[in-house]
Amino acid sequence: MRMGPGDALLVVDVQRDFLPGGALAVADGNAVVPVLNRYIERARKAAMPVYASRDWHPANHCSFRPRGGPWPPHCVRDTAGAEFAPLLALPADATIVSKATREDADAYSAFGGTTLATMLRGRGVKRLLVGGLATDYCVLNTVRDALQEGFEVALLTDAIRAVDVKPGDGARAEREMREAGAASVQLSDFAP
Ligand SMILES: [Zn+2]
Repeated sequence: MRMGPGDALLVVDVQRDFLPGGALAVADGNAVVPVLNRYIERARKAAMPVYASRDWHPANHCSFRPRGGPWPPHCVRDTAGAEFAPLLALPADATIVSKATREDADAYSAFGGTTLATMLRGRGVKRLLVGGLATDYCVLNTVRDALQEGFEVALLTDAIRAVDVKPGDGARAEREMREAGAASVQLSDFAP
């Protein structure tokens, strides 16, 4: 398999609050960073566009427990917790996709309330390579929407980690994404 024209890389929500020590830490979340850096390097060599989504919440976001939501406050815009992982080597020309930016709507998907689909079509993208955090929430919902929008999806199984609120959530999410039409791939599946 090759990376090339028609492909884009999407890095989902690799932000400090989702890493160990963060407000909503994903176990082993740090492990995706060096792998994603290798995908980024390969994407750049293949002249592919790189997109990075981020949770970018107002301080009183509806998904936060003080407002009756399921999560502790996390990824409040313009705070350290919302920053991308310090070691994530996003290229200077990566397109940042901010989501769930309004108080009263949440968005697990990078397509939710954003212009991502339009941007991808505008650049002739046919296939999206997707990795990041977390497998069972934002990656799952992003992949669902990408497929619904008519993009092919390659799920980067070596560059995702799950929250696993219930044990097995991550594995179930991966199965659902495959059944919906995503291809499960890892770095070694791509020709150098
Ligand atoms: Zn959030």
